Amino acid sequence: MDDRDGVIWLDGEWLPWRDAKVHLLTHTLHYGCGVFEGLRAYKTDHGAAIFRLRDHTDRLFRSAHIMCMKIPFDKDILDRAQCEAVSRNNLSSAYIRPMCFYGSEGMGLHAKGLKVHVMVAAWEWGSYLGAENMARGIKVRTSSYTRNYVNSVMCKAKANGNYLNSILAVQEAVEAGCDEALLLDHEGYVAEGSGENVFIVRRGKLYTPDLTSALEGITRETVFTIARENGLEVVEKRITRDEVYVADEAFFTGTAAEVTPIREVDGRTIGEGGRGPITEKLQSLYFDYVHGRRNDHQDWLSRVG
Ligand code: PMP
Repeated sequence: MDDRDGVIWLDGEWLPWRDAKVHLLTHTLHYGCGVFEGLRAYKTDHGAAIFRLRDHTDRLFRSAHIMCMKIPFDKDILDRAQCEAVSRNNLSSAYIRPMCFYGSEGMGLHAKGLKVHVMVAAWEWGSYLGAENMARGIKVRTSSYTRNYVNSVMCKAKANGNYLNSILAVQEAVEAGCDEALLLDHEGYVAEGSGENVFIVRRGKLYTPDLTSALEGITRETVFTIARENGLEVVEKRITRDEVYVADEAFFTGTAAEVTPIREVDGRTIGEGGRGPITEKLQSLYFDYVHGRRNDHQDWLSRVG
């Protein structure tokens, strides 16, 4: 990813893509203490627009607050950098990655007196779990790795180090011939995917785990809104893995994964084994909103130009 044309924002300046480098003794590189976001910009009739930009920036600041990192820029500056990361790289649709990380002033774990750097990059990134899987659904495997325990790392923070657990889980799932992992919490209840929130559908109602050990997903919240506005009930509750096995439908939500149907979990077919009708409806509404094809919720979109 390092060898391409374009620019990356670092601490208020635009650097040529290939020159956007850090020192080998960068603290975050060693210990994973940083916070980041993932957003998408979509093509709309008025050019590219970022979906729920300020909500992501707000979460970045909440993550930094939890990790006691002081971001040396205000939200308006970061929002502008994210818009410009799309426009300056001439992208009509994009995945956007802001990250706050510690510098190389020292290696102590206390991270005292370290400079907080902020970067923003944007590039084109298609369907995270495969374009054909958006209709067909994915194969999922329950992970042998327990989701991050709530008092071990901070689950409300989108913190770099939290993703060690995700990477172990997704690598195990892919090694086993699946597309994604489903992680359970330390008590054995369903938490989330490696980078997605999870929903099941049963008898016309949507269920999703509460947020004890899952990230507070912005797509999850978007799906709540869209579902309720379309007469669907959404219930947050503890979910067991066998509730997923007997669900009529299941799907993952996330900025990267968007709304991805799940067709199989641990070798059990979910529902009819493809994209169920409620998943299809929500997925289609989601794509309408992100592309600005509906008149309501235009405030979810920030034009980049
Ligand atoms: N859970 C985890 C662990 C994630 O990494 C993500 C992606 N940010 C999500 C859930 C979904 O969050 P969002 O919808 O805000 O992208």
